[in-house]
Amino acid sequence: MRYISTRGGIQPICFKDAVMMGLATDGGLLLPESYPTISCEQLESWRGLSYPELAFQIISPFADDIPADDLRALIQHSYGSFTHPEVTPVVRQDGVYILELFHGVTLAFKDVALQFLGNLFEYILAERGEILNIVGATSGDTGSAAIHGVRGKKGITIFILHPHGKTSPVQALQMTTVTDSNVHNIAIRGTFDDCQDMVKALFNDLEFKEKYSLGAVNSINWARVLAQVVYYVYAWLRVTDSGPKPVCFSVPTGNFGDIFAGYVAKRMGLPIGKLLLATNENSILTRFVNNGDYSLTGVVSTVSPSMDIQVASNFERYLYHLYAESPVKVRSAFAELREHGRIRFSDAEMKQVHSDFCSSSVNQAATLEMIGSFYRQTGYMLDPHTAVGVKAALDLLPDDVARICLATAHPAKFGEAVEKAIGVPVPLPDAVSILEGMPTRCDVMDADLEIVRDFISARIG
Ligand SMILES: *Cc1c(COP(=O)(O)O)cnc(C)c1O
Repeated sequence: MRYISTRGGIQPICFKDAVMMGLATDGGLLLPESYPTISCEQLESWRGLSYPELAFQIISPFADDIPADDLRALIQHSYGSFTHPEVTPVVRQDGVYILELFHGVTLAFKDVALQFLGNLFEYILAERGEILNIVGATSGDTGSAAIHGVRGKKGITIFILHPHGKTSPVQALQMTTVTDSNVHNIAIRGTFDDCQDMVKALFNDLEFKEKYSLGAVNSINWARVLAQVVYYVYAWLRVTDSGPKPVCFSVPTGNFGDIFAGYVAKRMGLPIGKLLLATNENSILTRFVNNGDYSLTGVVSTVSPSMDIQVASNFERYLYHLYAESPVKVRSAFAELREHGRIRFSDAEMKQVHSDFCSSSVNQAATLEMIGSFYRQTGYMLDPHTAVGVKAALDLLPDDVARICLATAHPAKFGEAVEKAIGVPVPLPDAVSILEGMPTRCDVMDADLEIVRDFISARIG
């Protein structure tokens, strides 16, 4: 399988090169040249497979430059860290199915992809005798999942900047209690934007970037999307165990990575109906799906912070397909966005969009109300991100289809908001309670690029 860029500016490359490249060097995103298809017989034959076995079946055609036994071992190792034997179990509650994606080390769905990516990086680096220094900024979730994905891995050092005192207490502990020597937590006296600006400046300093082999772990790595395709198939198999029925997925969306994985599953032939794109008040993608209006406004802070995003980085992957795989059209759409702050779509394009997605935006009041009413009805606690998806599903999807709602975080991860909604504290899972009192390591510094740059170069040596 070879990979190309949505902007058309690179020669096709193999899977391992695509993993190491991350963002395409022409500024586009990497995609496979074609998608393998999943037939009905194949699906049926997969019913008895464990999660890692299913993951191997789905991932291997995309990663055909890794020997099968090695790939199997990488996958086994990645999902061995999950605390539930099914990895991503599906539970039925009050007329919807909840696909629990939060049984990994940091209690959010990003572990599903980043545990795999960390192992992939280590494998490819060892084979090539190379090293990688990861630098990233986080407001909470991605950073902690990335740190746990690469802790203790040979050939990799990671530097994660977070705004000092501005992440949730659980998120801060999940990062700073990782004391492996290859992990550097940097708490910046400033905002998330300060952190992100400094990371961007470091990457724009090409000499620094080359000299120190800097790499990123943002949500644009193809391997992350690929790992997420697996749980769509896994969940489909679980809810159709007693005979096929129409299946829809509701996906709380920020950077469009998770829902794009659902789109890939659908393109590969998984028989699913609409993908429901659920947003909070940051609703540019809902405006796009419902009205063809893709125009930039400001970002607002909500109780579902991991979805507080304006420009969804993975959206470009969908645009490439919407534009019938034309890099020229992708480039002109982004030029239009830069110039006019919006992209316009034709009627034919919107017709296609409507056959792929439906969408709903759920505000904070409705989100908290959903958490409360669901808890009173079932005793089940939804985290605020998951609640956005559940509310959208109950509002938009008919009840004669299997409505699968992706649960992207454990309620304890956003315990404050959940407690406000249900009136009782959220019990801490072991993964969180054991963190309290553990030794921590973190360097606090001012939002000063020189200081951060010197710190990083001194640690890399
Ligand atoms: C990252 C994240 C999301 C959004 O996922 P995208 O792939 O960015 O759309 C939703 N919920 C939680 C808890 C997350 O951490």
